[in-house]
Amino acid sequence: MSGSLVVVGTGPGKAELMTPATEAVLARATDLVGYGPYLDRVRLRADQCRHASDNRVELERARLALSLAAAGRQVVVVSGGDPGVFAMAAAVFEAVETGDPAWRGLDIRVEPGVTAMLAAAAEVGAPLGGDFCAISLSDNLKAWSTVERRLKAAAEADFVIALYNPASEARPTQLGKALELLGTIKAPETPVLFVRAAGTPEAHVVLSTLGTADPTRADMRTLVIVGASTTRQVGRWVYTPRGERGGRS
Ligand code: SAH
Repeated sequence: MSGSLVVVGTGPGKAELMTPATEAVLARATDLVGYGPYLDRVRLRADQCRHASDNRVELERARLALSLAAAGRQVVVVSGGDPGVFAMAAAVFEAVETGDPAWRGLDIRVEPGVTAMLAAAAEVGAPLGGDFCAISLSDNLKAWSTVERRLKAAAEADFVIALYNPASEARPTQLGKALELLGTIKAPETPVLFVRAAGTPEAHVVLSTLGTADPTRADMRTLVIVGASTTRQVGRWVYTPRGERGGRS
């Protein structure tokens, strides 16, 4: 039987948010490759091989997965959330582009998953109801000046902005800098949401504003959503109307 490689995402955390299509792919796998904590979300059978690695070594992990598939194994690469959003699917294609030309002939597929931004939005209402964008604050793979340029452009265009990777132990100051920059363009009363462990039983939401937000509230499991000028509260929910006139047509 010839090998295959499918890149999947486990969703934001709770089992019900992993899609049935992803579960079916996992059931057919001979080898599972991924960052340890994501692999821990998957129940492995005794006949399935687990290849856990550290979080930082995405390209190495992608190459291992491709080599296993080339050797005829049914390989599944496991990400959190959606595998295409700041995750392993792109790393796999980077490895294909720079690796063994034979890898281009492999059966490689990507299975969509529920990304953190969608789970976080659902915890609070509909903050992504109008135009939005997603920016990762991690500068492991891009310059901080690039992050700043994109934040500025997104703020000037009045997008709702979902911030992935807002903070980690190695990067404690970036969210503060990002919010400060956004505050030079967006109004101080703009809603800022800190959604931790979205889509899990431990989900926790803090609603703040750009003028008062405490960036130290964010950690590696937090998604930060900065509103557009129309983003507002209604009752205990936060939403962004679909149109720029704020739903008052
Ligand atoms: N592929 C993932 C994102 C990987 S980047 C996805 O589609 O969700 C990792 C970042 O995602 C974290 O630093 C955090 O900002 C966010 N994240 C992942 N799971 C989360 C969750 N359950 N709640 C809030 N944010 C989460």
